[in-house]
Amino acid sequence: MKAHPVYDLAIVGAGAAGLQLLYEYLQLAENIDKKVLLIDSGDRSKKSWCFWSTESQTSFPFLVEKSWSKIHFRSSKGKSKTEEIDQLQYHYISSERFFSYFFDKYIPDHSQITWVKGLVKELMIEEKEVQITLQGDQVFYANKVGDSRIKPTTQSAKSLVYQHFWGKFVEFDSDILDSQAVTLMDFSQKQTNAALSVFHYILPFSSRKALIETTVFSTEAYNEKEYEKCWNQYMHENYAGQAFQIVGDERGTIPMIQIQSQQMTGQIFPIGTAAGQVKPSTGYAFTRMHRDAQEKVNQRIGDRKNRYSFYDSILLHMIQTENKAIPRVMDRLFSKMKYVDILRFLDEKTTLWEELKLFSQLQIPLFVKHLLMKNR
Ligand SMILES: Cc1cc2nc3c(=O)[nH]c(=O)nc-3n(C[C@H](O)[C@H](O)[C@H](O)COP(=O)(O)OP(=O)(O)OC[C@H]3O[C@@H](n4cnc5c(N)ncnc54)[C@H](O)[C@@H]3O)c2cc1C
Repeated sequence: MKAHPVYDLAIVGAGAAGLQLLYEYLQLAENIDKKVLLIDSGDRSKKSWCFWSTESQTSFPFLVEKSWSKIHFRSSKGKSKTEEIDQLQYHYISSERFFSYFFDKYIPDHSQITWVKGLVKELMIEEKEVQITLQGDQVFYANKVGDSRIKPTTQSAKSLVYQHFWGKFVEFDSDILDSQAVTLMDFSQKQTNAALSVFHYILPFSSRKALIETTVFSTEAYNEKEYEKCWNQYMHENYAGQAFQIVGDERGTIPMIQIQSQQMTGQIFPIGTAAGQVKPSTGYAFTRMHRDAQEKVNQRIGDRKNRYSFYDSILLHMIQTENKAIPRVMDRLFSKMKYVDILRFLDEKTTLWEELKLFSQLQIPLFVKHLLMKNR
């Protein structure tokens, strides 16, 4: 007899990845009576998780708060185009709704889950079990551990690229928004700093309420003052004379790092951001983490193609070394391609033939240059 309880699975971090893994693990009939330990240090910072999918493949459809069928793009020359995304829908789940579902309903409804608030200090493999030590030296044991702690990167600070954003939830006094179309990228604001490429992202929840976000690709650290300036300027340029109130905000940084994904084979396996589930060139991760959780619990190896990491690495190199080219690349992409095809490409669901077609529409010399420079 063991002197201490041993959980079948421990999950470190109750964020997007940890809770998706928890859910998928207990969905499997053979795991229904398994004991799960969830340890979390308590970061509940506001996030608007968006993703696109077909109707039958939507992640957590019962948590989706708003869906859009159209995408709007505005080029650096101020040219606007809105397009239907056919069989796809762009969805929004707020972190508040996601956490409230898990902590107020799902976890209380499942007595096999033990939830502990604490900071994991160390994971150590001891024969067949993993010993989990928390700050304060509380100790737990589990057969397997999914770990969402992010390890320090081996990449030099100079070669790191970030996506920083600062968005505000605003409520206008009149009906001025098109609530049917998400603005995926608006590059119309004059780019004033060569080290940043800035665009705006708009989620219109209704004809009055929206999240309007300044998004920046940069190799530099978060610069709150600069992003506040961009946001105010954008509002002035686009909504001059419109009265609005700011009812909330959301900010964050996503390191655009390429990390090799791993399966649930070892006793300790990384999940979420720590497992490379954030797509390095775009920052989208929610559905990738969901797919990864399903693959892990079903012990399936994902069929992700290496060529997408290759495409990501070229774009990252461009952001690192020639950031000012990004608006031009996006202008061209969105003027030449159907938006639904761009989304399928970003979701890594296109065929090689479709990718060749897509690349043939872009500035080939620019991509070849970055391909050569990257390999130097
Ligand atoms: C503001 C913001 C908006 C985003 N929007 C989108 C979007 O629209 N679409 C999309 O696809 N992706 C989006 N992302 C990217 C990605 O989906 C999120 O970053 C996502 O939350 C990552 O999930 P995660 O589980 O890896 O990390 P997190 O969700 O950050 O969860 C990590 C958890 O681990 C806990 N933790 C950390 N260290 C310890 C420790 N030592 N011990 C115990 N617990 C610990 C933290 O408290 C936290 O709860 C966004 C990111 C941000 C920052």
